[in-house]
Amino acid sequence: MSDYMIRGTAKDGEIRFFGAFTKDTAEYARRAHELSPIAAAALGRLLTAGAMMGAMMKNDDDLLTLKIDCDGPIKGLVVTADPKGRVKGYVRNPDVVLPSKKPGKLNVGDALDLGVLSVIRDVGLKEPYVGQTILQTGEIAEDLTYYFATSEQTPSSVALGVLFEKDGTVKTAGGFIVQVMPGASDETLTELEERLTALKPVTTLLDEGKTIEAILTELFDGMEPEILDRMPVAFVCNCSREKTEEMLSALSKADLQEMIDEGKEIEVVCHFCSKKYVFPVEELSEIMKKHG
Ligand code: ZN
Repeated sequence: MSDYMIRGTAKDGEIRFFGAFTKDTAEYARRAHELSPIAAAALGRLLTAGAMMGAMMKNDDDLLTLKIDCDGPIKGLVVTADPKGRVKGYVRNPDVVLPSKKPGKLNVGDALDLGVLSVIRDVGLKEPYVGQTILQTGEIAEDLTYYFATSEQTPSSVALGVLFEKDGTVKTAGGFIVQVMPGASDETLTELEERLTALKPVTTLLDEGKTIEAILTELFDGMEPEILDRMPVAFVCNCSREKTEEMLSALSKADLQEMIDEGKEIEVVCHFCSKKYVFPVEELSEIMKKHG
């Protein structure tokens, strides 16, 4: 089953929800960046959130960036997402390893430690919208829950998870964002809180063989859940040899000449997908000529 996400409502529009299954996306990121288990868990969670938050944007050209700058050994994470489920991202320190606090649970919170989460929405205006919040637990889902409550005044519940096989590959991954819309009754809020508290972790449910649709439809059982939309999710990077060449062309003549004089090929690595672009000296000379 390929990765996908769903969008829906319940209780006659008082609640909206997003759910995502992101096993391949998390595994792709893990392999592409050679991530340690903690780094793979952290990035997998943020990519899952990115996919769903990207789908909250209106226009095809809108771009969402989730950025975490933190004091913990992972140092930081960046994820971008478009409204069509295309996500990409990286962590600053892919090798981070920490002892577990609870058996079988990766210590993502301490890997991030103190820091700031920025939510940047580029919707084609001169300046992008930027919302920021201090990290609460560093577990990412709780931090986003807090972000929605404080920065967007939308009571939300965010669940994100990545589960691994014994050999370190991703076994399952996914999550959901449930939001209470303005005008929702107190009854709905209380009912929802009780149900969410009683819910098992999302990766446990996925691992039991439940789909994300089943998890959310059961969560809203009796509250008229309605799934409105379903779309694919994938790790997609739009880097290319042409774009990398353009980037090199933008360097100063002096810098280019210096690289040519060194006589060694240049390797440019894409931050987002770790793809390598190699430019031999002859090609650098070509770029230099076009420089004019
Ligand atoms: Zn790339």
